[in-house]
Amino acid sequence: MDFDTLFNAQLDQLKADGNYRYFAELERQCGKFPKAANHAEDGVRDVTVWCSNDYLGMGQHPKVIAAMCEAVERTGTGAGGTRNISGTNHDHLLLEHELADLHGKESALLFTSGYVSNWAALSTLGSRLDGCVILSDAGNHASMIEGIRHSRAQKVIWKHNDVADLEENLAALPANCPKIVAFESVYSMDGDVAPIREIVDVAEKYGAMTYLDEVHAVGMYGSRGGGVSERDKIADRITLIEGTLGKAFGVVGGYITGSAALCDFIRSFASGFIFTTALPPAVAAAARTSIAHLKASNAEREGQRRQVARLRQALDREGIPHMQNESHIVPVMIGDPVKTRMLSDYLMREWDIYVQPINYPTVPKGTERLRFTPSPLHTDDDIDHLVKALRVLWKQCALAHAVA
Ligand SMILES: *Cc1c(COP(=O)(O)O)cnc(C)c1O
Repeated sequence: MDFDTLFNAQLDQLKADGNYRYFAELERQCGKFPKAANHAEDGVRDVTVWCSNDYLGMGQHPKVIAAMCEAVERTGTGAGGTRNISGTNHDHLLLEHELADLHGKESALLFTSGYVSNWAALSTLGSRLDGCVILSDAGNHASMIEGIRHSRAQKVIWKHNDVADLEENLAALPANCPKIVAFESVYSMDGDVAPIREIVDVAEKYGAMTYLDEVHAVGMYGSRGGGVSERDKIADRITLIEGTLGKAFGVVGGYITGSAALCDFIRSFASGFIFTTALPPAVAAAARTSIAHLKASNAEREGQRRQVARLRQALDREGIPHMQNESHIVPVMIGDPVKTRMLSDYLMREWDIYVQPINYPTVPKGTERLRFTPSPLHTDDDIDHLVKALRVLWKQCALAHAVA
């Protein structure tokens, strides 16, 4: 059998649909974020990265770098094993304490990524709680969807951020079955924020546990970076808070926090926790330093808010349509995969601006977009340059303007 022919047939279809994924080959340069070297076919050039999830530039923070280097010198490179077999290092425990404290929970449990934490936690809860039903927001991330699927638990999808629909679904279930309401705080593609308090009120009314993904909010919302649940003073009523160390904290890894029993349960039964090598201790040390810094410092959050507001105002002045939301994510809607790709290519080639086109299946067809994430390290000049480029491209490509 000629397998490559089978592979290529599907790849060709993806390309014809405009949904093939091209990766930019970047070389991040410590101290110069959001600038990075772009290794393109015609050579290497500096570009300004406008779509990084290193939202606050913590990936190059001197304290975080120093913590990682110190820990490498002290402990070496890898963890030396799975958590179960010689891989649990002191630095992992220190980080788990830091995370539990961040969310005001009894315990925390580390994973190799946020994806793995969602996948492992939801698949374990859904498969080991007898008769469990998982109520999943329609906008949930792939990692939650896959975890729920793997659990084989009954799944009910409720309309995105729609508390009435959630309640209707909860009310239709038997009173005595275990129920999990799974949702996110900040949704990464539209940048909209869940009505967490209303969701928790309804979940409690029906005795459901709440599972909140704060991946796009940790480090950035709340006075200590505990996420939207901290900002809204509701964290204590959420059963499980999940997050990443790879976005605003600038390192890599994922985690859950909750009661001691909940974390011990996942620790004891989740295959995705048990059968994989633990994160390098140096990664844990760097993440802990980043979290501790953002607990005490508001400067990064304030700087980010300022630059987000500045970009939105500049787009408004030019009539460039962007989705309104209360978060740090600025989606500029194009609504066509080929045009979105083309704009992204022009921005890179002619303006040294890197923003990845966001196409199906990451977003629904017809809502293709450019998604900008201003950081405190994007300068006013960076913003002016971006908006000037968009103004020119909007004219060249005859794209629609926002109705004033
Ligand atoms: C990125 C993301 C994850 C996965 O986190 P990683 O640490 O990158 O694996 C989980 N949930 C949401 C909503 C995400 O956007």
